[in-house]
Amino acid sequence: MTKPRINLSLAHLTGKEQKYINEAFETNWVAPAGPNIDAFEKEFAETVGAKAAVAVSSGTAAIHLALALLDVSKGDKVFCSTLTFVASANPILYQGADPVFIDSEPESWNMSPNALKCAMEEAALEDDLPKAVIVVNLYGQCSKMDEISSICDLYGVPIIEDAAESLGSTYKGKASGTFGEFGIYSFNGNKIITTSGGGMLVSDDSEAINRARFLASQARDPAPHYQHTVVGYNYRLSNLLAGVGRTQLQVLGSRVKARRRIFELYFHALADLPGVRFMQELKDTESNRWLTTLSINEEEAEVTVNQLLEAFQKENIEARPVWKPLHLQPLFKGVSYYSHKENTHVAEHLFTTGICLPSGSGLTGEEQLRVIKCFRDAFNKTIINRSYFILGKHEV
Ligand SMILES: *Cc1c(COP(=O)(O)O)cnc(C)c1O
Repeated sequence: MTKPRINLSLAHLTGKEQKYINEAFETNWVAPAGPNIDAFEKEFAETVGAKAAVAVSSGTAAIHLALALLDVSKGDKVFCSTLTFVASANPILYQGADPVFIDSEPESWNMSPNALKCAMEEAALEDDLPKAVIVVNLYGQCSKMDEISSICDLYGVPIIEDAAESLGSTYKGKASGTFGEFGIYSFNGNKIITTSGGGMLVSDDSEAINRARFLASQARDPAPHYQHTVVGYNYRLSNLLAGVGRTQLQVLGSRVKARRRIFELYFHALADLPGVRFMQELKDTESNRWLTTLSINEEEAEVTVNQLLEAFQKENIEARPVWKPLHLQPLFKGVSYYSHKENTHVAEHLFTTGICLPSGSGLTGEEQLRVIKCFRDAFNKTIINRSYFILGKHEV
């Protein structure tokens, strides 16, 4: 008998979403426009503290719109974190532009200010500065935004903050995703809140957001007939899904709490194991702990990452390696890349040593104990620090 599946990060509904969906049905607002959209955008902008927001069909679409708004086009350079999901960089290709990948630094696992500085200096010398820098906040962790912003400011290059995984996280008290010219979020099924699929583009530039709304609705000029001057996209979120988003937004705080609790429990139960290093939280930041991630020093641990992944697979537990750096992807073969330091490739190292544990806010205490037991068994260290039993009660 196989054991019940434990997933990495499942959609977690409240049950109240139905009310908004019913309302939309009853009032026949199932078109991709309607009162839920306007309300969702407004409520979302307020939640993160941005001046304006536009709800779109995915996080990827939001990145694409941000690039279009910054006039990124064929032959332009765009810098992007290398340790991320491919969706961060695909829109660079949609625009016919050339990505340049920037390594991580070890503290945050996110964009290395050092590598970014080298890349900027070289680009400035060649008089070929990037049109934008896409900074990704991985697994809920904020990037070193002060350092990154000051480098970008020095060269006058705008930042697009990919906060798809970091909604609810803060850097010095300010919401992740609100540091760049544009911030993007995702409501895909595995993210901290979900609309089944969807995204949001935010900015303090309300005019730019209006322009994004125009581009996302096929760029229809104001005229009684159908009139088009520029290329547009069909990127709006539907009124139906915006209703789901509004309900989900109301529970964002408790979803962050639940994920942080899950992290704490893992930490208490596993941190004593040799060679296990959890992704730390940067000073003055709070992570939503979207996924609990850690890296394994295989020599100290005397267990390999592959052995651990196999052990999880046997127990029908979904654990994953961290993102494969984009500069190693066949899709981006030959693309330039800047390492953290000479001969220090942080993202590559994290890829070979990192592991993501099941972290969905709907994970039960019992399920989490199964993950912990499997992990410790792989280390032959079944005896555990009892303190985690006290922390083991989940409120969701
Ligand atoms: C999920 C994700 C995206 C894309 O969001 P979608 O809504 O799935 O298009 C972009 N960047 C990162 C880092 C992500 O994790």
